[in-house]
This record gives sequence, structure tokens and C-alpha cells, in this order.
Amino acid sequence: MTPRQTRAQRLAMPLARHVVRDLAAEHGGCLRPVQLRRTDLDTGQVEQVLVPCGHTLASVCPSCAERAKTLRAAQCREGWHLETEPTITPDEPDDEQQMWVERRAETQHDRDHTAAAGQDTAELDELSADLDEQITRSGMRGNVLPARPARRQRSTRRRQDVPDLPRRPVTSRTIGKTYTASDGRTFRPSMFLTLTCDSYGPVTADGTPADPGTYDYQRAARDALHFAALFDRFIQNLRRFLGYDVQYFAAIEPQRRLAPHVHIAIRGTVSRVGLRQVLAATYHQVWWPSISTVRHDDTNPPVWHEATGRYLDPATGEFLPTWDEALDAIGPEDEPLHVARFGPKFDAQGVLAGSRDSARCIGYLVKYLTKHIGACQQAASDAEHAHAERLADALRYEPCSPACANWLRYGIEPKNPREGLRPGRCKGKAHRREYLGYAGRRVLVSRKWSGKTLTDHRADRRAWLVRTLGITEADPSRYTWAPVRPGDPDHMPPAQRLLHVVADRQRWHAALAEARARASGQPVPGVPATKEAA
Ligand SMILES: [Zn+2]
Ligand SMILES: [Zn+2]
Repeated sequence: MTPRQTRAQRLAMPLARHVVRDLAAEHGGCLRPVQLRRTDLDTGQVEQVLVPCGHTLASVCPSCAERAKTLRAAQCREGWHLETEPTITPDEPDDEQQMWVERRAETQHDRDHTAAAGQDTAELDELSADLDEQITRSGMRGNVLPARPARRQRSTRRRQDVPDLPRRPVTSRTIGKTYTASDGRTFRPSMFLTLTCDSYGPVTADGTPADPGTYDYQRAARDALHFAALFDRFIQNLRRFLGYDVQYFAAIEPQRRLAPHVHIAIRGTVSRVGLRQVLAATYHQVWWPSISTVRHDDTNPPVWHEATGRYLDPATGEFLPTWDEALDAIGPEDEPLHVARFGPKFDAQGVLAGSRDSARCIGYLVKYLTKHIGACQQAASDAEHAHAERLADALRYEPCSPACANWLRYGIEPKNPREGLRPGRCKGKAHRREYLGYAGRRVLVSRKWSGKTLTDHRADRRAWLVRTLGITEADPSRYTWAPVRPGDPDHMPPAQRLLHVVADRQRWHAALAEARARASGQPVPGVPATKEAA
């Protein structure tokens, strides 16, 4: 007979479903597998297949996040020291893409006829713009027309304090120069570069301001919001400066002071002097309306006018200026809302293919990719909590985009207005604490980096597994796939899926160990191989 247990003893026992979860994670199995029903068209046989969720955050699925990180490291490694130009063959356009381009062509034809007849083309221009957006959304690059004349002339005058940069025509070459050592060996060095934001005030060792009262949180917030655009500018300038189509793999992370910085693997090299020149000439001007005056605080927000789909000033009943009107009101004497630049401090080192440095730098580049940008630096002390809090406060009412609800606070109707917008409650990711003002992609990879997409790299890995395991994959056109939904008779609850994941992973590990042992000529225990490779 089992002895009677106290409540405390029972609570101290591990929960069975937690054990399964931990075991699945330990075996590298997905914790949130998606269930699909696979039907073999030849035999009619139906099988349940659990597909990994593919999430990139370890807090959601540690195994999938780790696999995604490994894949990024492979992508980084393959592109960094390429010795031959990658061949890029674009995919054939699909039916949907062709349809959008055809519609766009018709619209252009109509528009040009209308213009030739001296009639108003505004409506057709608008339609063209919508179609261009659809074309981009359907997964095509670039525009069908190189750049329509800008609707509005905006000041692009150079700032007086920005030094001119030598500009060379950019050739299509993407690989760096080779050098010959005294012993005759040739080598092609690449670079690892870290760029940071400027100082917002002195900080102590834990990254918190020495004097929170004078630390420039507003500039910190705006630099973070526009960091991605600034990075783009830097790459453009670097290409013009070096005269070739420099390729990069970059990862964006926060520093201890919670400002973003970027680690960049660059194919080829640039001198420190050159780098300093490019950095000094790199800036991003944000030509947005001024937000120096709060016109509607939280007690008197603008009101939605259903009939017109616009916002009104509650005091005067007048429409707020639209986003376009507010942009048009920016005069030649006005200053940009913000000018983002990198700080003068940077870190640059040359890296050779296959070196220990190269492996170490790739480790840096992918180190934090499985975490939210705000989770990379965990606040421990009161000072760190307070610093994070003040940054979040500074981001609360900063407009994150033309469509940000915060524009209402400054008496401007956001772009594409809709009901229910509340200043200080914008849904944009940049305002959320875990993003620290930077809501862009964490990994930025130029198009001709490795000449492969992440899907290609994933396929490489799968092909390697299939070869190693010595299995033959069935022709994919033999199967149809359908998602299994809750309520379907064959739907498995999450706990049951996890049990299958554990079993699948165990079989798979055994098969891999066996294949490796066989490859190295060691005796192998008899283990049955499995069908599902990854
Ligand atoms: Zn997963
Ligand atoms: Zn916003």
C-alpha cells in the first residue's frame, strides 16, 4: 500500500506534463508543434505529421529558436568570405504577381492616354500607387517604374556641418579585394564592425545615467526609432565610398545603456580613416511635422468623426490637418524633427576566412537573436529598472511612424486614420518595453550575401541530414497536406503532441548516432531508422 502523502509532499513532486515539456526541449524538440494531416495520393494512406513551430524567440520555443540561430550562423559564415560572385537567379513570377503587374500596366496605359488628352490623372495615379503596393506585398522587389515624380518637394539640402564624402561610381562587384603576403599566399580579408549611437550623457558601469536629469532620453528614443533608416544610409554611403556593391550581415542589439548598436559582418575591408569619414558623413533626417507643442493632452483628445472618417478638434469642431497637409506645411526654413547619426566611437577588425576570429565574431552576431531586444539586458538593480522606465516614458508619446496614434496629441491626423486611436496607446511595437524603441528586423542581410535565402540554407541542412541518415525522400508531389483543427476527430491536444515529439526526437537521435558511427567505421547497435528527418 502506498503511504499517505502530505499536500506539501505531493506539491514537491514534478508535474508529469512539465517533465514531458522539459524532455522535449532537452531533445531539441519543438514545444508548440503544428499538427498536419498528410495524405499519400498513391496509396490513400493518412498520416499525422508534427511540424516545428519555427519561432525565433527562446522564450516561446527554445528548440526552434536555437535551430533558427544555427541557421543564421550558417548564413553568416557562407557569405562572409565568398571568393566568387554569388549567382542570383530570381524565382519565376507566380500567377498573382503576374496579375498585379498586368493590372499595373493597364492603369499606366489609361493614365498616359488621359494625360495626353489633358484630363485629370489624379485617380489613376492613386490607383497606380495602390497597385505598386500590391506588387511589393506579393513578394516582388523594386517598382515597375523607377520613381514616380515626388508629389511634394521636400528640402534635401545638406546640413552645413556634414563633411562631403568622396563618391565613386558603384560597380556591381560584391566581393572584396585580394592581397598577396610576402610568402606569395593570397588572402581576402573581411571585416567585423560595431557601430553605436552617440552619447546621451555620461553613464556608469551598469549603463545607467550618472545624472538621469540631464541624460537626453528624447534623443535616445528618436535614435532608436530611426536606427534602421540610419543603418541603410550608412550602407549606401559605404558603397559609394568604396565603389562596389558591399554586402553585409548585420545584427541589431541593445547596449547596457539600452541604446541599439549594430554588429556588421562586411565582405571586404575599409580603412579606419575611411570608416571615420563615412560615419561623419552619415546621417538620417526625419522630415516629420514638429511635435514641440502638445495640443491635445490625454484629457481632451481629438474626436473621431464617423461621417467623414476624420478627427476633429473637440474645442473648435474643426478637422485636424491630415498627414499630407501637415507634411506640406513644413517650410524651407524648418528643421527636420530629428537628425539621427552614429556616435564617433566604433569598433573595426579585419577577419580572415576560417579563422578563430571569424568563428568568434559569428558567435557575437547571432548570440542574442533568440531574445527580445529588451530581454538581452536584464534590469537587476533599482537604477537599471528606473533607467528602463524613463526610456519607456520617453517613447510613450514619440510618434513611431506616420500612422502613429501619437500625432493626435500634437494636433495632426495620423496617416490612414481610423476610429479609436489614442495618443500614448499606439499599438506600434516600438513603444512596447521589450523593443526599446527599435521595432525593425534584428538581422539585416544584404541581397547578395550568400546568394541564398534562409529557405535555401534550411534545405541545405535537410539535404545533409537525408544524406547522413542514408534515407530516400519521397516525391513531395505524392502528398497533400491539411492543417488539423481543434474539433477534428484526429486532433491531438498539446500534451499528446509533445509525447510524440519526444518519441520522434529519440528515434531520430538514435538514427543519427548510428549513421555517424557507421560513417566512422565503428560497430553500431541495431537501431531502426525513422522517416522524419528534421
Ligand atoms: Zn517550436
Ligand atoms: Zn506609434
